This record gives sequence, C-alpha cells and structure tokens, in this order.
Amino acid sequence: MSQSSISSILHEMVDVCHRLARNKMVSATDGNVSVRVDGNSFFTTRSSIHKADVTTHDFVEVDRTGKLISGTGNPSTELKMHLFIYEQRPDVNAVVHAHPTFATAFAAAGKALDKPVFPEVLVMLGKVPLAPYGTPSTEELPESLRPYVQDHNAILLANHGAVTYGATLKQAYYAMEKLEHAAQIILYARMLGGEQSLSGEQIKKLVSISEESYGKTIPDSHVHHFLSNTQHNDDGLFTEKDVYEIIKRIIRRLEIS
Ligand SMILES: [Zn+2]
Repeated sequence: MSQSSISSILHEMVDVCHRLARNKMVSATDGNVSVRVDGNSFFTTRSSIHKADVTTHDFVEVDRTGKLISGTGNPSTELKMHLFIYEQRPDVNAVVHAHPTFATAFAAAGKALDKPVFPEVLVMLGKVPLAPYGTPSTEELPESLRPYVQDHNAILLANHGAVTYGATLKQAYYAMEKLEHAAQIILYARMLGGEQSLSGEQIKKLVSISEESYGKTIPDSHVHHFLSNTQHNDDGLFTEKDVYEIIKRIIRRLEIS
C-alpha cells in the first residue's frame, strides 16, 4: 500500500476517534478503532490514550495474531475482539468499539435493541443483539460475540458497551452513531409509555423498497425476527396488548350486567 493511502487511512482514523470523543461515546481512555490494511495487517489505536487526543502517531500496525509490526506503544486492549471480527468476517475492513451512554445503558440493563421501530435503523443495522458479558481484554469477550458476528454489524456488549463494524471505517462509525441515537430515542419513548413497533405490513413494504431506496437489503433472518415481533399482528393472532384490551372489555360488560 502506498504511503499516501496509509496516510489517508490514518487521518480518517483520527477523525473517527475525535468524533467518538466529541459525541461523548467514550470517557477517559475508553474505546478503540481499527482498520484492515490488507489481508494480513491492521492499524489500531494504541492503548491508554483519550480519543480526543489521538494523532496519526497514536496508531500501531499489527498482524492477524496481534503481533506488533510497526508503531510505538501497545495495541488497544480490545485488539482480540477486533481481530476475531476480522477473522470471522472477511467482508469487514473496519471495527469501532465504544461505550456510548444510551446504548451502554441498554447493555447494562440486559436489553437488546431488536424491535422494529425505525425504518432507517432496520435497514442500516437490522436487529442489534446483546452479547453476554465477557471480561474486557480477555478471550471471553470475542467468544461472547461468536453467535452474533456473522449475522450482525452492531452488537451490544452486556455490562460494557457496543461494537460496530463494516466494509469501510465510515460505515462502522455511522453504525455506532445510529445505534446510540436509536437507543436514546427508544429510552425516551419508554418514558412516554413505550415505543410502538412497525406492523408486519409496514415491515414487508420496507423490505420491498430497501434495495432501491437505500441500496441495502435487510437480511432474511432479521426480517423473520421483526415479523415475529410486531405489535400490530397482521396474521389474526392477538398481541399481549390485544388480550389485555379484550379482558378489560369483558370485565366492563360483566360489571354492567
Ligand atoms: Zn470497552
């Protein structure tokens, strides 16, 4: 890879680190960013640096086993998680790990973000699962992701934070920003009585236009999950809310008679 290509990757990584800090998705030295340079090497943030202070000199180059190739300092403490994602997903070229306030609140409460609420979120992220807790910096963390990595591009890490990834660094960072924004709104919606899911019909319509309108398809497994989790069930089955309303009506009738 040419020196100018490497320089442009490092500048983009600096920009993402600064955005993470500016948007309060990390505190102190939290979070890490990495990019696949080619099949065998990766740039990652060095450990123990505030993401607001990162410059192009704060990245190290490592091989697929995590061995230092160039740069000064130690690679990020969560390098094992990054390398695991690259190993499992050859289509992924960038990984972002952060502790954004609202997404991490869901992760701390043991709640996934997997209801069909916002069309853009469904198209961009699909459902966001919650991986069980794994001790940071150990093999436990990548292992906790194993069931989810293939089929998702954003994962909440229980009692820890979130990880997002994509074909480009921009995609990986935007996924983190989208995840955090969705988590914030859903938390507010729950304070107002709870978010309303899209109906099965609305989901099917979104699936039919997503390729043309967004240039992206929603994976079948995610569509199936969303369709089985709609509040307005179109198949004639009653939701919990429907049953509650019916019972209320029956009681009212009994009281009248
Ligand atoms: Zn972390």
